[in-house]
Amino acid sequence: MPAKNSASAPRYALAIHGGAGAAPRAQLSPEHERRYRTGLEAALDAGFTLLERGGSALDAVAAAVHLLEDDPCFNAGHGAALTRDGAAELDAAIMDGRQMRAGAVASVRHVRNPIELARRVMEKSRHVLLVGAGAEEFALEEGLPLVPNHYFRTAERLEQLEAEQRGRHVSDLMPAAAGTVGAVARDGDGNLAAATSTGGMTNKRPGRVGDSPIIGAGTYAKNGVCAVSATGHGEYFIRAVAAHHVCAAVEYRALTLEQAVRELLHEILAALGGDGGLIAVGARGRIVMDFSTEGMFRGARDSSGRQEIAIY
Ligand code: ASP
Repeated sequence: MPAKNSASAPRYALAIHGGAGAAPRAQLSPEHERRYRTGLEAALDAGFTLLERGGSALDAVAAAVHLLEDDPCFNAGHGAALTRDGAAELDAAIMDGRQMRAGAVASVRHVRNPIELARRVMEKSRHVLLVGAGAEEFALEEGLPLVPNHYFRTAERLEQLEAEQRGRHVSDLMPAAAGTVGAVARDGDGNLAAATSTGGMTNKRPGRVGDSPIIGAGTYAKNGVCAVSATGHGEYFIRAVAAHHVCAAVEYRALTLEQAVRELLHEILAALGGDGGLIAVGARGRIVMDFSTEGMFRGARDSSGRQEIAIY
């Protein structure tokens, strides 16, 4: 759908991503493209409907990410990328820009929707980041749905793992399976929020944690400044403290959100040798989506009428 912009700042806005790195355009079949677009549209609709009804940015990003976790096309929840021993280990984070509260989980193997657990960590615990067995014990106490690890594993992800282990490097975003998911939003009260969820990198070492659940690296939100969710080669995003860098550049150096995102992706990460993408929403509801990879599964909608889903 073509983007439609209006001159007035949108009251509320939502952007989502389904991972950076998309397979070369020629390799993406119309059927796969249709599946990705349908998944992105459903998530965008779910989050945006909440914003339209006066819901919070926090609820909108959680709802969008929850749906993408349930969609086997994306590398989060059901359909996550697999570790080198064939298991799914999931990472997720959520941040509320209101008081800069945050919650995150890493290396969980049985929580059906890691984003819900990240939110419980933020709202119901004294902590910010819980990992592994301790995180799962907390999920149990909170009554969140737990599933056997094979729930997350799909035929496409197994194929991808086997190809990688045979030495054929395949992108985490080969045609049959897209990437990490994330959402950023501004609600009608001006509050900002960000959420990210992932299975990480295919063939990763068990215990490896990427940028997604690291507050300031893959996920960050601060009212009055911006909210950011990243995707890409996590080790580089951690080293660059990517999401926080974007916010700090806007807040302290008065860069526009576009300039800050561009600097991070195309100068700082590029100089380190890393690539990926970012979605961000500014204090006045401006959405920026940029990437240094071939593509990034993404979608945006705001109250001024902007509505788009794109891959390349
Ligand atoms: N950033 C994620 C990680 O490194 C992977 C991705 O976005 O594709 O875990």
